[in-house]
Amino acid sequence: MKLKNITTVVFAGLFGFLALAQENSVKYEQEIEALIKKMTVKEKVGQMAQITLDVIGKGNDRYTSFEPLQLDEKEVKKALGDYHIGSVLNTANNRALPKEKWYEIIKEIQDFSINKTRLGIPNIYGVDEIHGATYTAGATMFPQQIAQGAARNPALTKQGAAITAYETRASNIPWSFSPVLDLALDPRFSRMWESFGEDPYLCSVLGVAAINGYEGDDNNISNPTKVAVSLKHFLGYHATISGKDRTPSYIPEDALREYHLPAFEAAIAAGAHTIMINSGIINGVPVHANYELLTTLLKKELGFKGLVVTDWADIENLHRRDRVAATDKEAIMLAINAGIDMSMIPYNYEVFCDGLVELVNEGKVKESRLDDAVRRILKVKYELGLFETPNTNYKDYPEFGSKTHEKASYEMAAEAITLLKNDSGILPLKKGTKVLVVGPNANSMRTLNGAWTYSWQGEKTPEFAAQYNTILEAVQNENGKENTTFVEGVAYKDGGSYYEEEKKDFDKAIEEAKNAEVILLCLGENTYTEKPGDLNDLYLSDYQTELALELAKTGKPVVLILNEGRPRIISKFERETKAIVQAYLPGNFGGDALADIIFGDVNPSGKLPYTYPRYPNATISYIHKPSEEQKKAEGVYNYEADYNPQFRFGDGLSYTTFEFSALKLSSKNIKKGENVEVSVVVKNTGEREGKEVVELYTSDLYASSVTPDVKRLRRFQKITLKRGESKTVKFTLNPKDMSYFGREGNEILEAGEFEVMIDNLTSKFKLTL
Ligand code: BGC
Repeated sequence: MKLKNITTVVFAGLFGFLALAQENSVKYEQEIEALIKKMTVKEKVGQMAQITLDVIGKGNDRYTSFEPLQLDEKEVKKALGDYHIGSVLNTANNRALPKEKWYEIIKEIQDFSINKTRLGIPNIYGVDEIHGATYTAGATMFPQQIAQGAARNPALTKQGAAITAYETRASNIPWSFSPVLDLALDPRFSRMWESFGEDPYLCSVLGVAAINGYEGDDNNISNPTKVAVSLKHFLGYHATISGKDRTPSYIPEDALREYHLPAFEAAIAAGAHTIMINSGIINGVPVHANYELLTTLLKKELGFKGLVVTDWADIENLHRRDRVAATDKEAIMLAINAGIDMSMIPYNYEVFCDGLVELVNEGKVKESRLDDAVRRILKVKYELGLFETPNTNYKDYPEFGSKTHEKASYEMAAEAITLLKNDSGILPLKKGTKVLVVGPNANSMRTLNGAWTYSWQGEKTPEFAAQYNTILEAVQNENGKENTTFVEGVAYKDGGSYYEEEKKDFDKAIEEAKNAEVILLCLGENTYTEKPGDLNDLYLSDYQTELALELAKTGKPVVLILNEGRPRIISKFERETKAIVQAYLPGNFGGDALADIIFGDVNPSGKLPYTYPRYPNATISYIHKPSEEQKKAEGVYNYEADYNPQFRFGDGLSYTTFEFSALKLSSKNIKKGENVEVSVVVKNTGEREGKEVVELYTSDLYASSVTPDVKRLRRFQKITLKRGESKTVKFTLNPKDMSYFGREGNEILEAGEFEVMIDNLTSKFKLTL
């Protein structure tokens, strides 16, 4: 009886909420339609235009602003007033601002848009808040997405996104260009670390967790602690042939749907409000001009109802870079007709705005296409609550940069950092061990965070993050300053390109190593993203390799700590190391988490989110075809095609041991449409508590349309086990996990045998149709 009452109350409450939400959305729809009716073509075009902040900042030109930043009244009036521009993005002078400044600047933009334009439509401000509120001084910086992929803990990703949303709103910003749902398939690519990893399922699960954190489970973004997300970069952005940013990709239909699409599909189903388009070119066609991808697939087939925004300058790129349009105006026509709703212009807005008005007048772009775009834009503005509450004030966000938020960032780093090698259990070290901390990444907050931190390429981090601990400082805190010596050995050149290095006290480092019991060698990369981060040689740099080889010659044990955005090849000296710890880009608390792992306060539990190659010409991901992993060919000619990466996707050690047993399937004979229940027992057989990621893979043994993948991750779950404790972990496989995409992009379910793998256990089932 009591239960019934509670249920009734819950249902009544839920019904009330749903009814209210429905009522609101009907109200919006009517208001939006009424607004669109009132709008001139020029006003509609203005809503579709987005400019970067420097354009309206006081300064010598559109590319820079004077410090301290102030808006230029004349430029504001021209852009937001005469041209009706409805969106602004980015920071000014490529520099983080205090939250108070953000409030002042965006409030001024909103005041103008609401009070000084004919229709009073609020502006929508967008920023790349990709691992915390990137451009707000004092915000909590989390591990970058690639590290989150290693943590394999959706609850932590969701929590990080929720905190980032809160701190973004505390900065008066309602829209973030995050998460990245591209696959980290190519270790050469400069943005690999912005992805959750190389696996479509991993990217789907963590992508949805991030959206739930940013937008809330109910996607109620009028909640002033939530932001609208922008999924990016639709579609296939990291899959270039050359490995260089914004160069051509060739992606067949089956691969597009099998690998690149699932994370976007899941994110759209999770209610994401906006999406950004891939700046590259697929099968010869720039994605920004591709009607089939933007309209047929995204808007029609996937039913995406939100706002589609270009990437930076990508309409003018159709003319100026890719040359598929002979003029800027033709480029605008191609992009808008392909399905773009908003153009991230970002500087020369007159060209876009005047051009699009002319195109409508000439009948080359239909006004109904503009109406569709404006409807989508206004819907996001309404749903964000910007018409009623155009600003959010930092004073209402007492938790901004709080200890609780910092702790969440630390926890994520502690779960991400991955122990890849630990010969004769050298780690954890005893506190008080005489250590030499050495290498260009040892004493750098910049390299712990990566790019998109306080500035685009991350070079301004030292100005903003001095209060947090570098690896060296965290090791000193754990191990005592008196037991910790530091010599850099090799340094990144200040102000140079990210790959420029120099020797610094190189010989001294080798000398000091002789006095140490253990060498903590901190190698990796300086910070970079996008085009400036293009790479010519996947091997770790010559100077760093030389440092590793020379240090190893001292005979002192080398613990290699990697702090890098992509797996730079270490096979020239890997054998000389005793232990390897991958820290990725773990954020402002990554140094602390790493030191806690090195000295045993934290038991590592991260798992590689990508394949770590051993050689530059062997960058095959874990998702590959049988021909890429050939066993010995018997006969006269004995040959072998080796699949032999340095470390495998999913690798990651612990200070305890786990034993897997009793892999069971609910049935060995499955009929079409049925699920398979899988269970396995995991036991902690070591000496201390630990976390383990249980990963379920399947292999479709034979497929008739395209050669099947060797194996695929289908489910994972991270569990905690006390010493001696066992748990049964259960998963459900559904028919989708048994199908694949054929050559025409058609989904195929075939009768046949499947193998299920968890750890070293395997079992098979047969599907009949
Ligand atoms: C990047 C995007 C980013 C945008 C806005 C582009 O250059 O490719 O990821 O969201 O700039 O800053």
